[in-house]
Amino acid sequence: MMNPKFDQISCKTLREIIQLLSPTIDDYLYVYDYREDFYFISPHATQRFLLPDYAFHNVGENLRRLVYPEDYPKLRADLDDLAATDRCTHNLMYRWLSTEEKPIWINCRGVVVRDENGKLLYMTGCINEIGKVQKADNLSGLLGGSSLQLYLSQFTDHFPEGYMLRLGLDNLKVINARLGIEYGDLVLQKTSECITECLRPGQKLYRVVGDEFLILDFEGRKTEDGKELYRCIREKIRQFIMEKNYEMMFTISGGILDCSDIDEVSYSQVMKLTEFALDEAKRLGKNTCYLYCIDDYQKFLKRRTLMLQLRQAINNQFQGFEAYYQPLFSAKERRLIGAEALMRFHSEDFGMVSPGEFIPILEETALIIPAGRWIMHEALKMCRDVQQYIPDFKVSINLSTVQILKSSIGRELLAAVHEYGLSPTSVTIELTESGLLETDARFSLLWSHLKAAGVTLALDDFGTGYSNFHYLTDLGPDIVKIDRTFAAKAVANEFEFEMLSLFSKMVHDLNLKVCVEGVETAHELEKLCQLPPEYLQGFYLGRPCPEEQFMKQFIQMDV
Ligand code: C2E
Ligand code: CA
Ligand code: CA
Repeated sequence: MMNPKFDQISCKTLREIIQLLSPTIDDYLYVYDYREDFYFISPHATQRFLLPDYAFHNVGENLRRLVYPEDYPKLRADLDDLAATDRCTHNLMYRWLSTEEKPIWINCRGVVVRDENGKLLYMTGCINEIGKVQKADNLSGLLGGSSLQLYLSQFTDHFPEGYMLRLGLDNLKVINARLGIEYGDLVLQKTSECITECLRPGQKLYRVVGDEFLILDFEGRKTEDGKELYRCIREKIRQFIMEKNYEMMFTISGGILDCSDIDEVSYSQVMKLTEFALDEAKRLGKNTCYLYCIDDYQKFLKRRTLMLQLRQAINNQFQGFEAYYQPLFSAKERRLIGAEALMRFHSEDFGMVSPGEFIPILEETALIIPAGRWIMHEALKMCRDVQQYIPDFKVSINLSTVQILKSSIGRELLAAVHEYGLSPTSVTIELTESGLLETDARFSLLWSHLKAAGVTLALDDFGTGYSNFHYLTDLGPDIVKIDRTFAAKAVANEFEFEMLSLFSKMVHDLNLKVCVEGVETAHELEKLCQLPPEYLQGFYLGRPCPEEQFMKQFIQMDV
């Protein structure tokens, strides 16, 4: 039975209490005064529900409009029952309409206060949205994303001085898969304990998503302190793993963001930038931390835009892509013997983008497969056009490992060669060392298949990275292309030149041919011709250009 003293509380007082508490809770408190037929609810409810106001008369009529029509009879029956009996509580789950007139599930609980005769005075209570995300997470005992959102919403102009540190477990998926979800939960719980132990006064910790945490430090501390905090947490986790005799292994990465770097004061911007910072830390190899830098973020955004534009261009008949051709000459007679096809991309936002920038994106997204197929067809068409003037003209096509491993490029190439009425001997395939996987069966298959058909194989960019001489004997390419960096060094330095000469001799002893790439000056040409190479390529002899220009500049000159 209700404490009789409550009938002394005036509805005015209750309204004042509701108004006072309103900013401190996200649920909605209300009072329904039966005597005045008056309803008062936490003011922020009007932003969410189809209420005439947060205070209104004529409750029955207004409720009818607010409640999802299908549920109204249920509410009416409950209210009628309250009036007819001496029941003191109301507890009902039903739907209200949102400001967009969408049904929202709510749980409305209330206590009913009556006078000594049992007559209804008022009902007061709380309404909460059943579907709202859990605010606190019982596993880690921490506040969740919606609490963070609520906390950050108080800042409108700028965030206070300080930093944010977003932490992410590096291998929770693996732990869950190998040791089970319960074990994964234990790791999460222990991680949250390790983090909590390192926190300093004023620092706030939230669990933002599954295996990620966010620490807010709005106490004016610098990002250096954030790095120190990260190290402390990492060390705590390491100690914990040691104490458990390495029963489980896991690491944590951290992305640090200076509050002054947040250009837009919003929860979504905080999530976006801290997510980027954490992803960078993971990209750096995990178990490390990364300090947000605007330049890196701009690069990331550019890369993302470019990725989108490349995809759109491919879906739009390769609009924006262009094939350029760079002439290849025989070193002895300086005769035009072929051209290398090089991809170009015109971006609406960034103008002409270098292949050094967009080829890795195409490879990462496997878009190099359609794009590589496109340039292959372009190059074969071009070769057919040029062969009208130079019958033994050859075209060189660059292939990426992704194309070899994830498409049937060998078969496609031979079919296309046939389609254009060319001989397989008119085509050279260029592969870089880094793209060579001699142990992979698919690679050896392609290599022998193309070689048997008569396609020429060139080992590209030799002299960059870790040049492996075994490739020369094991794979037996027809041509070795000396990279510009190696060639330029040799021109500038006698010792390097000696090295290159020896290397060139070795290649020749293996019956392979040498192509020098990136010849930029007459001096370089003269010096490098002493090796001597079989083929030459470089800006000094001809820059890459579109087919039309190539025909004008090199074919008519040659015919
Ligand atoms: P790469 O295969 O080594 O191509 C030769 C690069 O050297 C070209 O750069 C060319 O413009 C540049 N070059 C030629 N002569 C000179 C010179 O005298 N001096 C200097 N400094 N550079 C010279 P580009 O066109 O920017 O291509 C860069 C790389 O992008 C290529 O290097 C290749 O690895 C890749 N790439 C280009 N097109 C394709 C393609 O269709 N498919 C694949 N998979 N990769 C491609
Ligand atoms: Ca090449
Ligand atoms: Ca090259």
